[in-house]
Amino acid sequence: MRSSGWMFGLVLAAHAAGSEAPLEITVQLFNSASVPQSEIRRAEREAGWMFQTAGIAVHWVECPALQRERGGDQVCKESDDSRLFVVSINAVDPPEQSDTALGFALIHGRSNHAAAVYPRIVAQTEHDSDYQDCVLLGSVLAHELAHLLFRSTRHGEGIMRANWTRRDYQAMAHRRLTFTAEQAQTLRKMLAKRSEGEARQAGPTSTEATVRP
Ligand SMILES: [Zn+2]
Repeated sequence: MRSSGWMFGLVLAAHAAGSEAPLEITVQLFNSASVPQSEIRRAEREAGWMFQTAGIAVHWVECPALQRERGGDQVCKESDDSRLFVVSINAVDPPEQSDTALGFALIHGRSNHAAAVYPRIVAQTEHDSDYQDCVLLGSVLAHELAHLLFRSTRHGEGIMRANWTRRDYQAMAHRRLTFTAEQAQTLRKMLAKRSEGEARQAGPTSTEATVRP
């Protein structure tokens, strides 16, 4: 039995040595809602933690408010990098979308854009001091980024529930709500495909996260 233990250990070591670069994504975050920097950082930490539980590192690039003309800042420019995502934190409701959605993901060709609707996030948390805007914002960012990675509007358990309840909020506040093991596996698989340039292109579609307290 000891020898099979060694074999197992060797197989693992060989796999690690031959594995590809670590899975990571870059997110350009456009703060169009003038969210205080401390809240942005906390939201990044919350969303980053969720992806960390899925074995994915998130690099955040904080960008000036989203504009048609993106100026000369190289790190905030559009790119063909399939592991680059663009998320804006909006100060106003997007047109023609659900009036309860906290966030949206636009899966359209090669564009990887998502948005969080900050006023609704604030409204959702202001009546209960147990819940913090930044934690909910982080959860919305993770949820919408996952839609982009999945290239799917499909919902599921954990952070991918379509409608969050008070129980979900409480779980978020204590870092007990994240991706399921199956979702984590799919996220890694889809990201690896992107890295290999095999990301499947889907038709234009959008999805939203809504909350019913
Ligand atoms: Zn959703």
